[in-house]
Amino acid sequence: MHLSSYEDLRSKIVSRMVTCEEVVRFYLERIDRHCNDNIYITVFHEQALERARALDRKLSDGGAPGKLFGMPMAIKDNIAIKGSRLTCASKILEQYISVYDATSVLRLEAEDAIFLGKTNMDEFAMGSSNENSAFGNVPNPFDKKRVPGGSSGGSAAAVANGLAMVALGSDTGGSVRQPAGFCDIVGLKPTYGRISRYGLVAFASSFDQIGVLSQNCDDAALVLEVMAGRDDRDATSSAHSVPAYSSEMAAVSVAGLKIGVPKEYFPDSLNPDVARMVKGKLSELRDQGAELVDITLPDSEYAIAAYYILVTAEASSNLARFDGARYGYRSGHSSDLASMYVNSRTEAFGREVKRRIMLGTYVLSAGYYDTYYKKAQQVRRVFQDRYREALEKVDVIAGPTSPFPPFGIGDKTGDPLEMYLADVFTVPASIVGMPAVSVPLGFDSLNLPVGMHLICNFFEEGKLLGIAKRMQRTL
Ligand code: GLN
Repeated sequence: MHLSSYEDLRSKIVSRMVTCEEVVRFYLERIDRHCNDNIYITVFHEQALERARALDRKLSDGGAPGKLFGMPMAIKDNIAIKGSRLTCASKILEQYISVYDATSVLRLEAEDAIFLGKTNMDEFAMGSSNENSAFGNVPNPFDKKRVPGGSSGGSAAAVANGLAMVALGSDTGGSVRQPAGFCDIVGLKPTYGRISRYGLVAFASSFDQIGVLSQNCDDAALVLEVMAGRDDRDATSSAHSVPAYSSEMAAVSVAGLKIGVPKEYFPDSLNPDVARMVKGKLSELRDQGAELVDITLPDSEYAIAAYYILVTAEASSNLARFDGARYGYRSGHSSDLASMYVNSRTEAFGREVKRRIMLGTYVLSAGYYDTYYKKAQQVRRVFQDRYREALEKVDVIAGPTSPFPPFGIGDKTGDPLEMYLADVFTVPASIVGMPAVSVPLGFDSLNLPVGMHLICNFFEEGKLLGIAKRMQRTL
């Protein structure tokens, strides 16, 4: 079966060249063949087939196919599907079964999507390599000794290996875009508030957004359109109207496009292959009539510093609910309530999660609040102002997705600060809340994928994906 895009698959299903059941069997077989790669934490063998048969019946009974009819999807395992395991790749939630559906899941289901399973990730979405999972490493699809990126490493590997057509991820500081860049696919993080976070397990609530990983920009736009929009169950979801993203995309042309190129995104330390490929793509666009505009933005390293103060602060509060009493794992050898809390958390949280809870508790403590937390909030504000100003002058800000290509498994696990720098180019858009996408540029001299990162103004996802599509097409 050759499946290049959802549009292609849909026409085959709707014209009865292929049934939903056949499509699901095709994907499940591929998933089973890759079972040693830890890409899925849970596979919905039975449910997906049942769902496919129900959709096939709907079509033969003359029912109108939904916008995502038969689309085989994977869902990151920090997004709730009622009645299914919701582990966040943590031992603390290993056996936890969700009692409700995320809003995004309900909206996809209402348009006839099919869920194949739940994908691996860094524990509670904290990480850049998928190595912080209690369910094992995921190999990079192009070099098994390397990481797929993170934290949505399972979702990215699923799409890149053809184990799902589209996958949902979550992006707090780059977790959709960075793994997309490492796996040669498209990864979109929408504007903060564009998609309801109801049913997304909270890491850092003022940053978290559900995002889409796909082979191409059209599929991302379609899935975004279905999920986006106000939800009364998430007070931070936006009431901004949801446009027809595909028509907005079609309206974009490269000629006359003003592309902001910040010098801060091309430091001397940038991997030379990455620099060469991103600059090469920018010159190509200039040759097609785009205008490259040199801009300056605050140094991205300040974004990293502020980010790790703010997200750890929020995480320390959000993760307080995992206390052994209400959810998941409870330590079996405790003498009283206090030791039960301590032992449950000590035994079931991984190292990185503990590190962040401690950091976050520290920066929020009475003596240090002003020095760290308040200061980081001020830095966040400066970034917001400067990015807003920049996007008054240009249509889009462009640079690399990651400062280096996929790194080796184990290479950065000994040094958390090194690992944090993997997000240096993706974190700013999360700090400011603007939509951003990683577009695959092709392969470097070692045959490893390189991604280009684009940021547009708030709620300009249509334009963003339109620009991304123009870049991808000329590959
Ligand atoms: N790698 C970043 C972190 O560890 C981003 C994670 C994310 O976006 N969920 O915080």
